[in-house]
Order: sequence, then C-alpha cells, then structure tokens
Amino acid sequence: MGRAARRLDPWALLWLALMHGGAAAALILPWRWSLWPAMLVVYLIGGLGTTVGYHRLLAHRAFRCPRWLEHLLVTMAMINTPGSPLLWVANHRQHHGHSDRAGDPHSPREGLWRSHMGWLLDPDSTVPDLWRRTCLDLADDAYYQWLLRYRMVPQALGVLTTALLFGWESLPQVFFLPTVAWMNSTFAVNSIAHTFGAQPYRSGDESRDNVLVGVLALGEGWHNTHHAFPRSARHGLLWWQLDVSWWVIWALARVGLVWDVRLPTEEQRAARRRSSAP
Ligand SMILES: [Zn+2]
Ligand SMILES: [Zn+2]
Repeated sequence: MGRAARRLDPWALLWLALMHGGAAAALILPWRWSLWPAMLVVYLIGGLGTTVGYHRLLAHRAFRCPRWLEHLLVTMAMINTPGSPLLWVANHRQHHGHSDRAGDPHSPREGLWRSHMGWLLDPDSTVPDLWRRTCLDLADDAYYQWLLRYRMVPQALGVLTTALLFGWESLPQVFFLPTVAWMNSTFAVNSIAHTFGAQPYRSGDESRDNVLVGVLALGEGWHNTHHAFPRSARHGLLWWQLDVSWWVIWALARVGLVWDVRLPTEEQRAARRRSSAP
C-alpha cells in the first residue's frame, strides 16, 4: 500500500478495457431509442444493488432485512461489481477507517485518477484477505464465499439474460453502456465526492456533498454527510438532496421488508455541523 508500490493487475486492466470497450461500441453501432427503459433498468439494478445492498446494508448495517432480500441485492450488485461482497465491504470499511490518510485504498490525495479507477488496477492498493479480519459478520455466508471463487457468474448471467431478451446486437447499448455508466458514477464517489463540493459536517477527511454525484450515484454523492454519519440509511438528509437509494429503503420499510432503519438524531447532526452550514 502507498505511493512506492505501483504494479499493474493485467486481469483488472483487461476487465475494465472490455467493459469500457463494450460501452464505447454502443456509441458506434446503430442506436435504438426504444431501449432506453431497459438501459435505465440495468443502471438501477446494478446501482441499487451496490448502494442499498453492498454499501448501506452490508458495509454499514444501516438497516436490517430478510436474508433472501440481502442476497437478492448482492446479486444485483454483482452484475457490475465482479468482486465478492467480502472484498468490497473489506475495502470500504478500510476506506472509512483511514479516509484520506495512509491506508485509504482510494484517496484523491494520491491523484484523482488513482482514486477513480487507478487503485483498481494496482494489486497493492488492497489486501486480498482483509475480510478475514474486518468482515467477520459476513465471512460465514456460503454464498459470499462462493462468490469469492465464481465472481464472474452473476455478470455472465446478466449478459446472457440481456442478450436473450433484446438480442446479442443490443448488448453494448442495453448492458455495457449503463453498467459502465454506473461503474463510473460509483467511482466518482471516491474521486469527485472526495474533492469537489460542500463540507457541511465535520468528518475529519476530504469527503464532500456533491450535487452531480448525488444524483448520478443514486444518493451516494452526499458523501460528506455519509462520512459524518456512516451508519445512517439516508445520505441526503435535506429535503432537496435527491437520494433514490433512501427512497427504496423507505419504501421497503413501509411494506415491512426492512426494519431497524438507522438515522442520525437532530442532536447528532447539530454536534457535527460546521457553524456556517444550514
Ligand atoms: Zn468516502
Ligand atoms: Zn460508506
């Protein structure tokens, strides 16, 4: 870990190149406007799986839900995140524990590109078996252990399903473009939302509330708020802070599929608020 080590993971490079190449092909091949709803669905499947499942549920335990729903959310995330939740959650907990300090796997203090995508190409940016120490709450889940070995299976099934529904020629537009768009939205949380935007709360790091990332990353761009209250199920705490992931959690709670939803109290918010913030 750190500046000195800069190796290149050829498999990560190949995977990112293939994904982005597939997305670029959509811009060259004939465009079908009728596929917009399907593209949005693919974006939301991968997006909400990541934000509601990987991030707010598994990494931060911001709410509780049945195991089948947890596994469904994880499977949704896996169509664009080829890494067992054990790896994702371990890296994310490491990020919160060392945010913008030594040991943070993806801080813009080492460069914007490094925090966006470069860290994924560097095998030394992460510790592969960190989950054995920091994800004891997830480690005995047989599905997550299986995903360590067969991480590409859900994504391969996603590609196959899309091809069967819309035709192989539609894959660049319906699968790769929205998947890559989502990937970059979530990468932007680590890069843009640790560099540009407001810091209404004292979080002890460079995290920012960024409007653009807030919208594109389904609520995850209210990132200074998130670092100030990492266990909150809601990241956009103000009425105008669009947080689609929170709407989903709220709706699931309304129908009884989600419970023990954690939110910061007024006192906790006041204690962290900077004097100039609203
Ligand atoms: Zn962060
Ligand atoms: Zn987090």
